[in-house]
Amino acid sequence: MSAPASENSGSHDSPGDTAVCSAKGCREPAVWVLAWNNPKLHTPERRKTWLACEEHREHLSRFLGARDFLKDVVALDVWEGRGDGGGRGGSAADR
Ligand SMILES: [Zn+2]
Repeated sequence: MSAPASENSGSHDSPGDTAVCSAKGCREPAVWVLAWNNPKLHTPERRKTWLACEEHREHLSRFLGARDFLKDVVALDVWEGRGDGGGRGGSAADR
């Protein structure tokens, strides 16, 4: 009666949920969201997003900014707290 000790049956490391920096080769957790739009490809309301760690935020935003694509840089937690597509009548009063 030997019960095998099953101590290691856990699916412990889910690669899933953590948002990772979009910079090439970077695997740092993202803390920033860069919202951008390429007017040649996208309608003006469309937002593509890149994620960036602290280190790559400037690099990526410069890349997008140089092309005039960059629309917004928002902290990830703020971005997610926005509740994409919520019907609360957003006020875009900061221009
Ligand atoms: Zn990075």
